[in-house]
Amino acid sequence: MLKDGFGRNVDYLRISVTERCNFRCQYCMPDKPFSWVPKENLLSFEDMFLFVKASIDEGINKIRITGGEPLLREDLDRFIKMISSYAPDVDLALTTNAYLLPKVADKLKDAGLKRINISLDSLKPEVAQKISQKDVLKNVLDGIEKALEVGLKVKINMVPLKGINEDEIVDILDFCKSRGVEVRFIEYMENASAKAGLKGLLGKEILEHIKKKYKIKKLGRFGSSPSFSYELEDGYRFGMIDPHKHDFCESCNRIRLTAEGFLIPCLYFEDAMSIKEAVEKKDMQKAVEVLKEVLKNKPEKNKWDEEGSETSSRAFYETGG
Ligand code: SAM
Ligand code: SF4
Repeated sequence: MLKDGFGRNVDYLRISVTERCNFRCQYCMPDKPFSWVPKENLLSFEDMFLFVKASIDEGINKIRITGGEPLLREDLDRFIKMISSYAPDVDLALTTNAYLLPKVADKLKDAGLKRINISLDSLKPEVAQKISQKDVLKNVLDGIEKALEVGLKVKINMVPLKGINEDEIVDILDFCKSRGVEVRFIEYMENASAKAGLKGLLGKEILEHIKKKYKIKKLGRFGSSPSFSYELEDGYRFGMIDPHKHDFCESCNRIRLTAEGFLIPCLYFEDAMSIKEAVEKKDMQKAVEVLKEVLKNKPEKNKWDEEGSETSSRAFYETGG
């Protein structure tokens, strides 16, 4: 079992397999041209898997593959197969914008993927295009249907934004309810890459929209999940991730690996250490030492609520959200 310097169990690894993306969501990526990390700087899937194996041996039992857009990375199914063959009981999930999902959902399922979270911010083509800066809606909806068809457990993520998609909160909830999938509303988290002036809705404002149509019962937070669960009268459950109100630090069980091999102890903490050299030399003892060092330095609380630091300089597309 891995523990950090404050005695918290760490059993959850989030892996960003690429920072590249085929969308330019206003809340995540700069719209000005910028340069990607060169492909040769990325960890190969073989080297990433060496680290994944060592982490599983040390006690990691939950893995989420994310990005950037993870489906842009060629042969992702091969990486998923490596992990699921080594540890079939590990809770293996993926977060994607679903644009490329219609073509690959069956391959991912066959490779051993169990769960998938899909970002869906609008059901209106022009609004989806405004947010992601690309005509995406048809592919995203086809991706959701395909994921359900092949038997993946689907959850939907929505980031409600003032004056952009706030009028669709209930529509997205109803869309998810009709398909029997959970939606999780995520408060927009301010960051330096997002479009200037963008404003998100707070959790309580999101709930106000839902309360206009439904009676809501509070359920609570389950396990280490940052999502707070609510239930409608008919038993349908949805989640709320509201970091402006809660910091989740007390029960944080996660650590992040970037596509370049940096281990990040906290989304809102600038410290990171690389495992790249160690895994490329196949020195897994060293890689585990780095992992333990990063855990030792995992902060007790994120720095987000410190005065003047409400905007993270590390973008979601780099850390995998
Ligand atoms: N590209 C994939 C996707 O969009 O699902 C995976 C990576 S994306 C960084 C992971 C999640 O982070 C998405 O659900 C996205 O909506 C969320 N996200 C990105 N930037 C955000 C922000 N500034 N505030 C809140 N959520 C954000
Ligand atoms: Fe890409 Fe996901 Fe960021 Fe949107 S939220 S720009 S899809 S990484």
